[in-house]
Amino acid sequence: MRKPIIAGNWKMNKTKSEAVSFVQEVKNSIPSASKVEAIVCSPDLFLDALVQEAQGTDLKIAAQNMHFEDNGAFTGETSPAALKDLGVEYVVIGHSERRDMFGETDESVNKKVKAALSHGLTPIICVGETLEEREANKTNDVVTTQVKGALEGLSESDVQKTVVAYEPVWAIGTGKTASSEDANETCGVIREVLSNTFSADTADAVQIQYGGSVKPANIEDLLGQQDIDGALVGGASLEADSFLKLVEAGN
Ligand code: 13P
Repeated sequence: MRKPIIAGNWKMNKTKSEAVSFVQEVKNSIPSASKVEAIVCSPDLFLDALVQEAQGTDLKIAAQNMHFEDNGAFTGETSPAALKDLGVEYVVIGHSERRDMFGETDESVNKKVKAALSHGLTPIICVGETLEEREANKTNDVVTTQVKGALEGLSESDVQKTVVAYEPVWAIGTGKTASSEDANETCGVIREVLSNTFSADTADAVQIQYGGSVKPANIEDLLGQQDIDGALVGGASLEADSFLKLVEAGN
């Protein structure tokens, strides 16, 4: 049985004191034996403080990106080894904002996924089509290429340790959520790709989240869908009470 994941992706928001206050506010409100995994994806600057603050609770801390090399001359980048050393457990890889603005490709995503797994970090791999691609009926082709590209060369047991987040680009930060049926359909396509490329067991094991204008008002509908195992949430994860409502919806 797959455990849904509610992950708040803060993006480039919050100061350290705001981030720490948020964690102080939510950490003891995550039900122990929660039916969902609750995660906060923070800017690198506060990861250390947040891991310390969340210790001993059911809140997990994630990074939003990392480099694929352990160390070297990569000015301004973050090492997966350093993330692991801090106690970070998850890392978002290939978010559409990084693909669009920072030159991420399926190839760099694949390298980062492999690096994350080699350090015992769980990669949350983002895929999703643009509005133009959707209107040209290319959604299934786009997500298929992205999922296969991200997982190329991985063993089946490694694939089972990954999380996929389906985030249609046109739904991110726009207030336009995919209908839960459409979101479920594409998550189903992703599961089929996993089944055909690896095995039915692997397809069954991987958590597939939906992301794009998720909020307390639509989370229950999304979580009720068979192939949607939680949500990756931007705007509605910034306030503690809204984040807690999303977590509560899964409990
Ligand atoms: P919004 O929830 O603000 O649409 O952002 C979604 C997202 O990009 C999460 O990674």
